[in-house]
Amino acid sequence: MSEHSNRIGGSSLYRRANCPGSYREEERVGREDTSSEYADEGSLLHNVMDFCIETNDRPLDLFAKYVQDGEGFPKFNDAELNAENVKLAQSAWEMYDGLRSEVRGFVKASEVRVSLEAIGPNLFGTSDLAWFGEYRGRPTLGIVDWKFGAGVGVPARGSMQLGFYMLGLMLDPDFAEYAEQAEQFALAIGQPPKSDDLDMWVTTREWLKMLETVVRTTNDAIDNPKAPLRVGDWCRWCSAFTSCSAIQKLGEDALSLAPQKMTAVEYAYWLPRLDQLKAFANEVERLAKSEVDFGAAIAGWKVVEAIGNRKLVDPDVTMDWLRKTAKLRVSDIEEKKIKSPAQLEKTIKAAHKKDRAKALIEELNERFVHRPITGTKLVPNSDPRPAAASAGDVLGRALGGIDVDFQG
Ligand code: SF4
Repeated sequence: MSEHSNRIGGSSLYRRANCPGSYREEERVGREDTSSEYADEGSLLHNVMDFCIETNDRPLDLFAKYVQDGEGFPKFNDAELNAENVKLAQSAWEMYDGLRSEVRGFVKASEVRVSLEAIGPNLFGTSDLAWFGEYRGRPTLGIVDWKFGAGVGVPARGSMQLGFYMLGLMLDPDFAEYAEQAEQFALAIGQPPKSDDLDMWVTTREWLKMLETVVRTTNDAIDNPKAPLRVGDWCRWCSAFTSCSAIQKLGEDALSLAPQKMTAVEYAYWLPRLDQLKAFANEVERLAKSEVDFGAAIAGWKVVEAIGNRKLVDPDVTMDWLRKTAKLRVSDIEEKKIKSPAQLEKTIKAAHKKDRAKALIEELNERFVHRPITGTKLVPNSDPRPAAASAGDVLGRALGGIDVDFQG
């Protein structure tokens, strides 16, 4: 049985709410059962976390026990937990461990299937972890979503996906009492490849009520055969992307443009749509390459090997040769380099207890770390960074104290 609804689920709510026609389009193209190395690793790690939370085993201990007992690597649904991916599970476990130490009277349930049938048919999803207890002095109902992909970091603040799971939890008879008692609701994401800390956003019942209205409105809108198609960043995960008429129209409109003649109003229209155009171009390239990989001929194109940067075949043997034959000193061959700030933070965390590590990391960042400005970048106003001075501002300031007679 699928763990997430095709109609409206946690991960598709944002897309359905913004593009109600996406349900019709995705049903039309059918859903590919896309298994990939990354998806398989993600589901393995979810299973490991579920198992470890239920049995209260640390992933590293579980792994070590299997290896010591000569049983090989532990397996979950035929997938093997290995020395590499156990680190991600361990990092997620530490986030879980930190959370439960902060919550008084911590009760939890792992892999909770939540249903929103009370709002609309076939609406459900799975929350990786649900918990209840006193967090920062107030009764709190919480959920955690594990994300094991190394792609874009996903913020918990305002997440419709997490809100959807929380709404489902509040409707679940097993959690109804906790939902009633809760004075606040904690939505959290643990994304071990991106951060060692749980990203938690504490929100209110009112915010969840607002989200419920969004789910209800979306549920009503998606069955309309004329439900509109709207292009935006939600298109990224849409399975109808390559055949969507709205995307094709966008491409046609873009090709008819003359960028150097565009006005500020046209820039404002096109800038938010560039990501979809780039994604469309990438998809064309990916599909064409896979055709050629499988033997098709595309006139004028071929596939070549991509060559990486040069690497030493065997650094130890090379070192030996450089010293004995090339007569070089060690100091001429090796360079000592301090680790990056992110690596140093990890080293500090591993060497010290939580509070001490936090203080040292703060000091490290305050005293020894800076972020050099390497140029400027065009971003939407929603970006939290303050606007940089424009070339016009800089020129204006430079000329501020000078009397210039432009009449000559
Ligand atoms: S690709 Fe975008 S516009 Fe087209 S159906 Fe999907 S979400 Fe809607």
